[in-house]
Amino acid sequence: MTDEFVLTTCPFCGCGCNFYLVVVDGRAVDVAPCFTDRISLGRLCIKGRQAYEFIHSSDRLTVPLIRKDGKLAEADWDEALDLVAERLSHIKQANGADSIGLLSSAKCTNEENFLLQKFARAVVGTNNVDHCARLCHASTVVGLVAAFGSGAMTNSIPEVTEADCILVTGSNTIEQHPLIGTRVLEAKARGATLIVIDPRETPLSAQADIFLRQKPGTDVAWLNGFMNVIINEGLADEHFIKERTEGFENLKNTVANYSPEKAHEITGIDAEQLRDAARAYAKAGSAMILYSMGITQHSTGTNNVKSVANLAMLTGNVGKPSSGVNPLRGQNNVQGACDMGALPNVYSGYQKVADAAVREKFEKVWAKSLPDGPGLTVVEMINAAQAGEVKAMYIMGENPMLSDPDINHVRRALQNLEFLIVQDIFLTETAELADVVLPSACFAEKEGTFTNTDRTVLRVRKAVEPPGQARPDWRIICDLAKRLDGDSFGYDNAEAVMNEITEVTPSYGGMSFERLDKGEVLAWPCPDVKSGGTKFLHKDKFARGLGCFHGIEYQPTAEETDEQYPFILTTGRTMFHYHTGSMTRRITLLDHEVPTGYMEMNPADAKRMQVKDGEMLQVKSRRGHIEIAAKITGRVPQNTVFIPFHFVECAANVLTSPVLDPDAKIPVLKVCAVSVEKKS
Ligand code: SF4
Repeated sequence: MTDEFVLTTCPFCGCGCNFYLVVVDGRAVDVAPCFTDRISLGRLCIKGRQAYEFIHSSDRLTVPLIRKDGKLAEADWDEALDLVAERLSHIKQANGADSIGLLSSAKCTNEENFLLQKFARAVVGTNNVDHCARLCHASTVVGLVAAFGSGAMTNSIPEVTEADCILVTGSNTIEQHPLIGTRVLEAKARGATLIVIDPRETPLSAQADIFLRQKPGTDVAWLNGFMNVIINEGLADEHFIKERTEGFENLKNTVANYSPEKAHEITGIDAEQLRDAARAYAKAGSAMILYSMGITQHSTGTNNVKSVANLAMLTGNVGKPSSGVNPLRGQNNVQGACDMGALPNVYSGYQKVADAAVREKFEKVWAKSLPDGPGLTVVEMINAAQAGEVKAMYIMGENPMLSDPDINHVRRALQNLEFLIVQDIFLTETAELADVVLPSACFAEKEGTFTNTDRTVLRVRKAVEPPGQARPDWRIICDLAKRLDGDSFGYDNAEAVMNEITEVTPSYGGMSFERLDKGEVLAWPCPDVKSGGTKFLHKDKFARGLGCFHGIEYQPTAEETDEQYPFILTTGRTMFHYHTGSMTRRITLLDHEVPTGYMEMNPADAKRMQVKDGEMLQVKSRRGHIEIAAKITGRVPQNTVFIPFHFVECAANVLTSPVLDPDAKIPVLKVCAVSVEKKS
């Protein structure tokens, strides 16, 4: 019996820690830390430490399934793929290519995401391809591209430790990005000022020098209040504004109306404390902003992101070390799935489908005529399925029956499809509705790359064989493309796909498996083989030339409380589970720590309603209702409740609203109105 140690990348959060899978007799039996890894430095969080256990779960999908007489029955690969090819061809012929929608996956590799969007565009002939970045950071991409020209973290994770001031907003960093949370605490121990702005207490807020709690959905108001103080007290970086930006007068005129007192009226934040926080941020030598879905998942998500960018530019905190605007991407490869063009409006490297020259480039390489208009986003596809306009969906590694807003609506829409294909490692809630289920390999069973939240491309390596007949997602896409389109997807391995990615994607031009396998740390942009990648962005020039200020007015959130629905519901995650729980709920220790969902409720509300800790409650919104146990805690303010979304038996997204941010089309998952009643 020989232990083998296979160096690979964690399949959970966007930190992108490397670790070793310990393999004995063909089975992954443990995870061992990698002490030379630049992110983890050998320290793994509880999820990463247990990342081996779900791999050999007894309920992994091992054979294709086809729905017969209303039930999913085992089939062989040829039967399943022939059926998929035949049904997709028929639906395309009868209704056009845009009657088909595809969801790619932030859990899959870059190579697989690249292939799925290529399959959508070059084989099916539609730009209807998207993935769950739409639900978490679509507003980051739109907002930061408008402000800077690039929609990713401006700085790298190791730089966090050296920042003089860190402003964390809408991010439960210690629980959701533990190895970035560690860096924040190290910076604080070094003497950095830590400002946390969040409606909910988090482990990080307990360590903050300044902790401000805003009413959910009022971020533009406190950000404008910050900038009002900075401009009025002469703390803006005038040289940076003059040399590097445009649109300042517009911003100045807008924020002039947001005195700290006015911001207090909207947000509930004490005016003097807001002044202190603004001064601390503006006076720091290097000030870094970390944010996550507390900023993005709003009906004003794009405006929130633009306001964060305004604040950083106003103080000259972009384009230098340990500063910048740093959206913390949630899933392991959500950055990579976006980079690879698994989005309805761009090819890989954010090259626009509507740009004729770009389209011509891809048409030449792929030898295909490609569709020109942007396709449908995740929520738009679901709406179109409900309306009967989208007739077939191919869902790779996503579980909208738990992750998308208004699940009852999602169920009706998926049931309304003529044909649903789901490709996954487990029979998820979405796979249960499919006509064909294709069993895929998990991260430990295939080669490829992920791109973590700081734009670094990381190797994923095969440690064990997939169970039964399961195949890597990239192989399944190629097998299907062959049936529909001859030999245009004749890739022998994931490396061949990466070689095509580098050919057509300028920001990935210098990436290669060979360089990554030598241990080179490559963050994009990495335009050619001579480039060592880019640690922080916008050094002498913004990606768009000049940084652009936007004057943003506060707008109330889409759904406010009223007499019938008097509580604000905000949703999120726990430290112990990942996304829809399909992997982490099969890990004994994590399931033991948090076996089911709960609703956090403020002690004052609980007292008023005579609710006891652990008591079952009924929570209702305009979309549906769930039953869930109360957790009485001061972590949430009065009149606000919090539910983690991982748990199907008390699914938070039954309640959430599908209203979208108009620019990024991200749903407003952080705020909706609910009622809470004791279960009769
Ligand atoms: Fe995995 Fe994130 Fe934990 Fe690192 S911090 S081990 S990437 S879950």
